[in-house]
Amino acid sequence: MATHTTPILIIGSGSAGCTAAIYAARANLKPIMVRGMQPGGQLTITTEVENYPGFAEAIQGPWLMEQMEKQAEHVGTVIIHDHIASIDLSKRPFTAKGESGDDYVAETVVIATGASARWLGLESEKKFQNFGVSACATCDGFFFKKKDVVVLGGGNSAVEEALFLSKICNSVTLIHRRDTLRAEKIGQDRLFKTPNVKVIWDSVVEEFVGEDSPPNLTGVKIKNTKTGAETIVPCHGAFVAIGHNPNTSLFEGQITMDADKYLLVKAGTTQTNVEGVFAAGDVQDKIYRQAITAAGTGCMAALEAQKFLEHHA
Ligand code: NDP
Repeated sequence: MATHTTPILIIGSGSAGCTAAIYAARANLKPIMVRGMQPGGQLTITTEVENYPGFAEAIQGPWLMEQMEKQAEHVGTVIIHDHIASIDLSKRPFTAKGESGDDYVAETVVIATGASARWLGLESEKKFQNFGVSACATCDGFFFKKKDVVVLGGGNSAVEEALFLSKICNSVTLIHRRDTLRAEKIGQDRLFKTPNVKVIWDSVVEEFVGEDSPPNLTGVKIKNTKTGAETIVPCHGAFVAIGHNPNTSLFEGQITMDADKYLLVKAGTTQTNVEGVFAAGDVQDKIYRQAITAAGTGCMAALEAQKFLEHHA
């Protein structure tokens, strides 16, 4: 078991964490970045990214994150493959323990733990998870090659997943609880033009149905919210794409959160209620949630941590 001591501990390695690491390392703060459960964050489970500035052609999300991490490392970040299991933010230096058993001692902390996929919460959803029900088309889409799948949700994730799956699967049915999509217009246009995609409006999933042992999904039972009519949509795979929850359970009782458990920061900054603890990226942002905005707040967090250290040397 080792003890790692640093002026700035960055928890999470998505675009917020990596950007904080790049800025902190270039300020000679010798940051430690703990990669977490999903190294690289949400961009590692996406495919094409065409809205991250600097790339004329679409790039791959996992590639972008690999580059960000390498960049952080090249400028001097110590990257540790661990997951923070507990943290004490009641006094400085702050202390944390990793699942590896290692201890971390830090003068400042940047929380960049991001957000994770949200589930519907149905009993049957749990039963068929990994047996037809998934929250990641880029991870699991291949298993449904030439098969029929449904995608649940109406945001950018749902549309992106549906478009991705349309290239692999026989048919894709997007099921949305309202009669308009929340997704960007450009994605909607592409979706409506794709011949093997259809949309079922005003419908919620009541149950995932299939064979019991071994579990094997054969369809989803949906209910029309306007007429109350129930139908079963046959499918081999169902992709839940209904948004995300912030990864904040570690900070419960220590960092102030809003009703949805997003960390609260002082307006226009990344400063949390604990001096010296900063929050960047999706963990504190339920409005924009873009790779570029996460990177921007990661940069802010590193600069604010640097300033804090100058005043609390
Ligand atoms: P969003 O919160 O944008 O959308 C979630 C969707 O799921 C909504 O359509 C919502 O319905 C629906 N939904 C939520 N809860 C339920 C439920 N219990 N039952 C049924 N439907 C439900 O999440 P996304 O993951 O799509 O996107 C998150 C953020 O990431 C957004 O800011 C998005 O713009 C961004 N993003 C950007 C991408 C890009 O630019 N390339 C790609 C993917 C995401 P309703 O509309 O009725 O609220």
